Amino acid sequence: MRSHQDWVQEAAKATLHTRPFIGGRFVEAGQATFENRNPATGELLSEVADTGAAGVDAAVRAARSTYDSGVWSRAGMRFRRERMLRFADLLADHAAELAVLDSLDMGKRVADAHDLDLPFSVDLFRYYAEAIDKINDEVAPTPPGTLGLIRRVPLGVVAAVIPWNYPVDMLAWKVAPAMAVGNSVVLKPAEQSPSSALRIAELAVEAGIPEGVLNVIPGLGETTGKALGLHPDVDVLAFTGSTEVGRYFLQYAGQSNLKQVWLECGGKSPHLVFADAVDLAETAKHTAAGIWFNQGAVCSAHSRVLVERSVHEEFVSLVAAEAASYAPGDPLDPAAGMGAIVSPEQTDAIMRFVDEARDSSARLVTGGERITRDGSDSYVQPTVFDDVDPTSTLAREEVFGPVLAITPFDTEAEALALANDSAYGLAASVATGSLGRAHRLSEQIHAGTVTVNGVDAFSAWTPFGGFKGSGFGRDLSLHALDKYVGLKTVWINH
Ligand code: NAP
Ligand code: MG
Repeated sequence: MRSHQDWVQEAAKATLHTRPFIGGRFVEAGQATFENRNPATGELLSEVADTGAAGVDAAVRAARSTYDSGVWSRAGMRFRRERMLRFADLLADHAAELAVLDSLDMGKRVADAHDLDLPFSVDLFRYYAEAIDKINDEVAPTPPGTLGLIRRVPLGVVAAVIPWNYPVDMLAWKVAPAMAVGNSVVLKPAEQSPSSALRIAELAVEAGIPEGVLNVIPGLGETTGKALGLHPDVDVLAFTGSTEVGRYFLQYAGQSNLKQVWLECGGKSPHLVFADAVDLAETAKHTAAGIWFNQGAVCSAHSRVLVERSVHEEFVSLVAAEAASYAPGDPLDPAAGMGAIVSPEQTDAIMRFVDEARDSSARLVTGGERITRDGSDSYVQPTVFDDVDPTSTLAREEVFGPVLAITPFDTEAEALALANDSAYGLAASVATGSLGRAHRLSEQIHAGTVTVNGVDAFSAWTPFGGFKGSGFGRDLSLHALDKYVGLKTVWINH
C-alpha cells in the first residue's frame, strides 16, 4: 500500500494532457481554453482546450470514418476482444497514474480512485470484452419458406458526456459497452476532470484499438457539450450528469437528428431504517458510507434517512459518531476521511443547502462548517441534520455533497410514502430483519436499485440506472449493450 509520501511523489510526476485526442492523436483546437485547478490546494494544474464546435465536428468525422472503414465495427470478435483485454491490462498497469490524475483534478481520495475506481473500470473493460462472442442473435418463428433473422448491429457514432465525480468509471461505464459491440466513440469529460480521459484515449491506441475508435474532446458543457448534443451525425448520446442538463440533451436531439438519448441523472435516494434492523450499529456505518463516501458526490448517494421513531435517537447518535472517520484531509493522504469538494463553486452550492437548513426547523447534529486547509476552502465537514421536514429543500433536492437529512417515521406505510415522494427514482436501501418487509418494500419502492441490508449495492453484472427524474436506460451488465446496438430484421424468402 502506498503512503501519503508515495502519492505526493506520484503526483509530482503527473503529466496532464490538455488538447483534444482525435483520430489517434492529440490535435490543436481553437483559441478557447479553461482553467483546470486542483480543488485541494486551489493551484492551477493546466489550461485545457475548450474543443468547440469545429473540433466536435472533426471528432465526429474521425469516429464516423473509422466506423465506416470497418477496422473495428466489422473486425472479427476475437480481434476486438483481444484489443480490449490488452487495453484493460494497460489501464491496470497505469492505475496509480490515472488515480492521481482524478484526485488532482477533482479532489477525491487517491486511495479510493486507485483501490476502487480503477479496478472497477478494468473489470468492466474485461467484462464487455468477454461478452462480445457470448451473445447470440435470434431467429424468428416465421412461416415455412421464409427465414427471419433478428440481428444486433452497432449504431455507428456514440457520443458520451460525463460528470466529474468518477471520471475513470463514468468513462468505462459508457465506452466499454459501446466499443465492445463495434461503435466508435466521442467522449466529452467534465470540465473539472479532463486529464484521465485524455490519457486513457492515448492508452487505447497503445493497446492496438484502431485510431478514431475512442476520441476524447475536453471542453465546457455550454460550448463543446452542446455542439456534440446537436451534431447531426451522432447516432447515440449517452449522458450521465444532472437532471437539468439531461433535459437539454433531449432538446438537442429533437432540434437536430433525433439521435437516441440515454440519461443517467441525479437522485435523492432514501435509506429506510426499521427498528427490526439486524444490526443498528452496522446500519449506521452503511448510512455514513452512503452519504460521505466520495464527499457525497455520488449520484446514488443515500442522502435522506427515514428512521423508525422507536430507534430514532439511538440511530442518530450512532450515525453522528461515524462522522469522525470522514473528516476531510489531503486527498493524497490515505488517512484522510474525505477529500476536497470538486470546486469552490460546488462548495458554495453545498453551503447554501446547509445555511437554508440551519435556518429551518431542522436540527444540526454534527458538521455544517466549511473548512480551509492547504490554501483552499473547498472542504466541508461531514454533516447531519435531524428532524428534517420532508417538504423542505434539503429533503427534496440533490446536494451532491456530504450533507445528510434524517426524518423519523412511525409506520411502514408512512416510510414507503416518504420514500416514493420524490422527483427522483435512482436507488433506495432498506434495513430490516423481516423477510416479508424486505420483499414488500423492494417491490413497492420506485427506484432502479433497492438494496436490502446494505447501502447502494452495484456491480458490473447488474444493471444500474433510474426511473422518473433520474433518467432512463441502464448502465452496467449485459443490458447496457442494448443502448449501443440496433435491432435489424433480415427477412429471406427462400
Ligand atoms: P452536470 O453539470 O449535469 O454535467 C454533466 C456533463 O454535462 C458535464 O460534462 C458538463 O460539462 C456537461 N454539460 C453541462 N451543461 C451542458 C449543456 N448546457 N449542454 C451540454 N452539456 C452540458 O453534472 P456534474 O456537475 O458534472 O455532475 C453531477 C451530477 O451528475 C449530479 O446531478 C449527479 O447525480 C449526476 N450523476 C449521475 C450518475 C448516474 O449514474 N445516475 C452518476 C454520476 C453523477 P461541464 O463539466 O463543462 O459542466
Ligand atoms: Mg458541471
